[in-house]
Amino acid sequence: MGTVRAVAFDCDGVLADAGSSWAVIHSHFGTGDATLLSAFLNKEITDEEFMRDDIRQWKEVQPKIHRDELFKCYSGVQLMEGARDVVSALQERGVHVVIISAGVDLFVSAIASMLNVDDWAANGFSYDSEGYLMDDGVCRVPAWNKGEMVEKLIRINGFDPSEVVSVGDSSMDLSMYVPGSRFIGFNPTREEAHSAFNSAEVPVVPGPDLRDIWSTLFNGEEFPEES
Ligand SMILES: [Mg+2]
Repeated sequence: MGTVRAVAFDCDGVLADAGSSWAVIHSHFGTGDATLLSAFLNKEITDEEFMRDDIRQWKEVQPKIHRDELFKCYSGVQLMEGARDVVSALQERGVHVVIISAGVDLFVSAIASMLNVDDWAANGFSYDSEGYLMDDGVCRVPAWNKGEMVEKLIRINGFDPSEVVSVGDSSMDLSMYVPGSRFIGFNPTREEAHSAFNSAEVPVVPGPDLRDIWSTLFNGEEFPEES
């Protein structure tokens, strides 16, 4: 096992202790459609269709939704246990740390600045000139093709794929496992994530402490003692 030069983390359920940053807004408005979620998980609808439909459901409850109200939905969300320690220990070794999330940009950008990561990408919203939510979402990270962003990370920084490790909690995150790179399944909750990780034969680290990925990342090494 070679050098680790970059780690790409999923956000929801990996760095942030929230299953889905989309679901957080649904619970605020009392919305959410299990049929659409499973259609999306079965790749029957696109990211754009899924986002547009989420927004439509919220606007049915409340026609005008301000960015500030959306941001406040996340006030109770915590970082995953050990997330801060892992990111700073990686950066201390000169490892490049990024977040690649199909979650909500409002939330992911807050996590990114809290953890001071090197770069991040996520999906999200557009607003009118007064900050009110528009009908269409913005898709930058296709949930089933997060590998595009990993390829970009490799290309821009001149990494070898073998030096890049992705960490995710869902079957969609396996799209980050680009040829030649490594992947660690962390904290899988859905049964389909367990079975997808097993069939992909990737190492799986149960949650909730992110520090537990360390020995898998660095060939059996223990998490560094705090200095
Ligand atoms: Mg996730």
